[in-house]
Amino acid sequence: MGMSATGHYIGGEWIEGAETFESHNPATGEPLGTFPRGTETDVAAAVEAAGSAFEGWRKLSYIDRAEHLWDVYTELKNRTDELGELVTRECGKEINEGRADIVEAAHMVEWPAGNARHPHGDVVPSEIAAKDSYMRRKPRGVVGCITPWNFPIAIPFWHMAVALVEGNTVVWKPAEQTPKCAHAIAELMIDAGIPDGVFNMVQGYGDTGAALVDHETVDTVLFTGSAEVGQGIASKVGGTPGKLAACEMGGKNAVVVTEHADLDLAVPAAVLSAFKTTGQRCVSAERVIVHADVYDEFKRRFVEAAAIVAIGDPLDGDTFMGPLIEADQRERVLGHNDLAREEGVEVLVDRGELDDDEIPEGHEGGHWTGPFVYETAYDPDLRCIHEEVFGPHVALIPYEGGVERAVELQNSTPYGLAGSIISEDYRQLNYYRDHAELGLAYGNLPCIGAEVQLPFGGVKKSGNGYPSAREIIEAVTERTAWTLNNSPDIELAQGLSAELKTDDQ
Ligand code: ADP
Repeated sequence: MGMSATGHYIGGEWIEGAETFESHNPATGEPLGTFPRGTETDVAAAVEAAGSAFEGWRKLSYIDRAEHLWDVYTELKNRTDELGELVTRECGKEINEGRADIVEAAHMVEWPAGNARHPHGDVVPSEIAAKDSYMRRKPRGVVGCITPWNFPIAIPFWHMAVALVEGNTVVWKPAEQTPKCAHAIAELMIDAGIPDGVFNMVQGYGDTGAALVDHETVDTVLFTGSAEVGQGIASKVGGTPGKLAACEMGGKNAVVVTEHADLDLAVPAAVLSAFKTTGQRCVSAERVIVHADVYDEFKRRFVEAAAIVAIGDPLDGDTFMGPLIEADQRERVLGHNDLAREEGVEVLVDRGELDDDEIPEGHEGGHWTGPFVYETAYDPDLRCIHEEVFGPHVALIPYEGGVERAVELQNSTPYGLAGSIISEDYRQLNYYRDHAELGLAYGNLPCIGAEVQLPFGGVKKSGNGYPSAREIIEAVTERTAWTLNNSPDIELAQGLSAELKTDDQ
């Protein structure tokens, strides 16, 4: 893939920018393209275009709006392999995951497009026979979408597909690491004939995202990304009356392995949770909490697997782990590995700095690292078992006692995104289901691999508002309780008198 000059997409036009930035393949360092870095002026132009397009777009029926999305869906289905390869080249996920990103994007478009033909709202009974009451939804207007690099095609559609079908117009700020994937999405939207101004994209960094959040016309912000940035957005937006932010952020996710676990299931579940996407999913596990009775055997098998998981060229189908996204991220991950060491944990696998022969030929410019596995007794003061790393860095933490203790440890972080329990005992599974402080909880599965028809999001510091398929409708619409009187007389509920009393009576 060669270099190409590309723009923002604002009001139906490609717009160049004075300042630019480059996208790179994280497996090789090869440049993939040059993109404009959005300014406050670009953001304002995009918001204005979205505002102007809003009335025309909301006037269409749900089904007409969804028709455009079906065209996007068909393209995603027809071009899954090609777009999957683009994802792998720009964000470094191995090719099966690159492809899965496109499949997930298609599902995220299919869900709201199909939902367009389903009932929207409720018919609600009234105390007064002559009254008809309904709960109806209205679009909120211009929705600002800010997305991360790790699902560069799927997550933008989590935000935008529902927002658009519900009648909103959007201004999207894609991740600075994956502008080429963003450009491909803009092309899909254009090919689907989405009217000018309904979909707008401003490329750029965090300051471009901040300009979008700060814009006074943008009442609704959908954000997926780091806890640090998301909390900043949630508190900024939360302080402005009428504004709303739905944020999905990271976690310090855990897999619990009880004394009743089937280790043949527990080991792969933990390996997939910890190392898939090189640990760079918001749902990746960085803690495995294991009952003392099965700890030694689990540890032996987990360590054995972590020592040999295949790191390599992400375009090669035999690769399990690709590179990290960028050099800074690699520094951060290695820094967290050092921190764990300094905190005195017992390191079991250290593939942080890979040997030269582990780095695929021609990929010396990539951001390579491998599994870092350590064990430690639980200690509330250890930073390494409480702070999110976003890399293949995982703690094995033994526990004794009942499932209550395991759940206490699972809950001992400020986050609450995803987690899983491995057990053959239904009482343990149900206890975990009811007491683990999580938005996404799994039994006898890895804690990754959510499907679009379930709500996706977290509790505690991991988020609010669930910016994905099902629950996002709440964030991008306002409810109207609409009541119509069919009688010529006014009759009120609660026995409230409708009589007008006057002084001369
Ligand atoms: P990650 O660690 O996954 O890159 P970030 O939270 O840094 O997560 O980035 C997620 C998205 O948020 C990106 O599109 C990024 O440019 C954007 N972003 C970063 N900082 C800000 C900010 N202060 N305000 C708004 N958006 C931001």
